[in-house]
Amino acid sequence: MKYTLATAPLTLRFSLLPGHYYSIVAPMPLPEPQLLAWDAELAEHLGLDPDPAAHPRLAELLVGNLLRHERPLASVYSGHQFGQWAGQLGDGRAILVAELTDVNGEVQEIQLKGAGLTPYSRMGDGRAVLRSSIREYLCSAAMAGLGIPTTRALSLVGSPEPVWRETRETAAVVARVAPTFLRFGHFEHFYHRGEPEALKALADWTIEHFYPDCAATASPYLALFEAVRDRTAGMIADWMAVGFCHGVMNSDNMSMLGLTLDYGPFSFLDGFDAGHICNHSDQHGRYAFNQQPQIGLWNLACLAQTLVKLVELDALRAALDQYQTVFEAAYAERLRRKFGLAEWRETDWPLFTRLLELMQAAGTDWTIFWRTLSTPARHATLRDQFVDRDAFDAWFTDYTARLAADPQTPAERATAMLSTNPRLVLRNHLAEVAIRKASDGDNSEIDRLQRALARPFDDDAEFDDLAGPAPDWAAALSVSCSS
Ligand code: AMP
Ligand code: MG
Repeated sequence: MKYTLATAPLTLRFSLLPGHYYSIVAPMPLPEPQLLAWDAELAEHLGLDPDPAAHPRLAELLVGNLLRHERPLASVYSGHQFGQWAGQLGDGRAILVAELTDVNGEVQEIQLKGAGLTPYSRMGDGRAVLRSSIREYLCSAAMAGLGIPTTRALSLVGSPEPVWRETRETAAVVARVAPTFLRFGHFEHFYHRGEPEALKALADWTIEHFYPDCAATASPYLALFEAVRDRTAGMIADWMAVGFCHGVMNSDNMSMLGLTLDYGPFSFLDGFDAGHICNHSDQHGRYAFNQQPQIGLWNLACLAQTLVKLVELDALRAALDQYQTVFEAAYAERLRRKFGLAEWRETDWPLFTRLLELMQAAGTDWTIFWRTLSTPARHATLRDQFVDRDAFDAWFTDYTARLAADPQTPAERATAMLSTNPRLVLRNHLAEVAIRKASDGDNSEIDRLQRALARPFDDDAEFDDLAGPAPDWAAALSVSCSS
């Protein structure tokens, strides 16, 4: 017999930290909770019975109306928002309700996002609306399917409870899952509050549970910073490779584990636009697509600042200075795979930048281009994706010449490229269709998208309709921070 959410043993970990890291707070009940989506594969990974029917009163557990944990909590953090120090923020609508041990023996925290007011809600209502919760649920699945580090989403529960944003919407709760939701902002909080002991204890706890290798080094806190730097660079390189724009890279949304965290106004590129801004509240394009690598550095500088009493300053500076090199190596590795090369050479950069210029001029669809490039039988159609076709032909001749110097066979290369250049990403309009249907009481598209996005590299005919370019109406979609 497998555990259900109601019977699974809880493993207390974050909730055993001293009280200055959080406040104990119970979720606020929501009426008529209805389970709209459930990730059975993730449930199985968590050691739970994957069949939702096996869980008594599952929707009530997942919306927070029933509680397992004696110490449900909201954690406190601070952070920089849009380049400004914002002071104390904290889990304003997310409550940690369970800590489970998964089938690999790793502890996983479950947070209910949208579970009601906490001491950190400030002016907010503690709720999340159905529209943004569907987006978070689906994008968590999409990123996991793409192999990009991310928080996960176990379930989506809706309620008829009205929630006011620009208009009247309804409430929903996503149960999100991660080994920890620690952010750069947790470290910033104790640094800026002038509580070096709490900060050091948090760093020790982070090393003990997530970066144990750092403990054995000459300078554990420096090693911790370097490890977070490397994971952050790798995550952003992953984003750039699939055309993902996060939209709100505030330091409080940066995971200490290098996980994609806090899905809000994110988007995947349709037509390539280097300066694409997906968050319509971001007037100056601070978080535009091509700014993300630099913003990663900016946020790492915020984190480094918190460690100045624990790490020698010159060493910390040098570690920060290496970010650019680490990011470029990570990005080159993704591009090597995207282009189907066995090794990346310095001279491959201009080949890439020339391609970007052509794509920018034509607004070439990012996902479709790379998928077509991965499929030799379709190469003749590539030039149709460009405005200056002669220039593209010249580029393609150079790319073909580069492949001639590559040791892989065409078949090996195609296989490798098809497993790195996805056919499916969560385009805005796909999420929008699922949202519109769900608002009319039909959840089937959420489930179908989740199944499709879990296997984005497959050529499954069932999902052919999801692989095309964005329709014209998608250009009018806009997403903001109001979620
Ligand atoms: P975000 O922009 O989603 O990263 O949120 C920034 C801060 O605002 C975090 O402290 C959130 O917990 C908080 N917050 C966002 N929306 C709400 C809400 N509806 N109610 C309470 N707090 C919120
Ligand atoms: Mg946030």
